[in-house]
Amino acid sequence: MSVNLPPCPSCGSDQLVKNSKIHHGKQNLKCLECSRQFVQDRENKVIEHATKELIDQLLLEKIPWSGMARTTGVSEPWLQSYVNAIYEAVPKQVKARAKKRALRGSV
Ligand SMILES: [Zn+2]
Repeated sequence: MSVNLPPCPSCGSDQLVKNSKIHHGKQNLKCLECSRQFVQDRENKVIEHATKELIDQLLLEKIPWSGMARTTGVSEPWLQSYVNAIYEAVPKQVKARAKKRALRGSV
């Protein structure tokens, strides 16, 4: 294959093919040996703590998630996984106490 393509991160093979582009327009590569797909020069985007706090506040409003993702600069899949993590952290048990029963004939 071409010289400037990196080896496969899983098996080290240089038998790679271009495999379409990811949603940000970067070239996706696929290893012919192990079928691993990867992106050359990927960037790990770190979501700032302030952005997460803003998203926490926005989630309390009736705003579409796509609008939240556009204004805060995060991706919709990231927002979905963030909300899923928050949802998992919410306790599912309802804390209820038994009502005190009024004694019959006491009133
Ligand atoms: Zn491989």
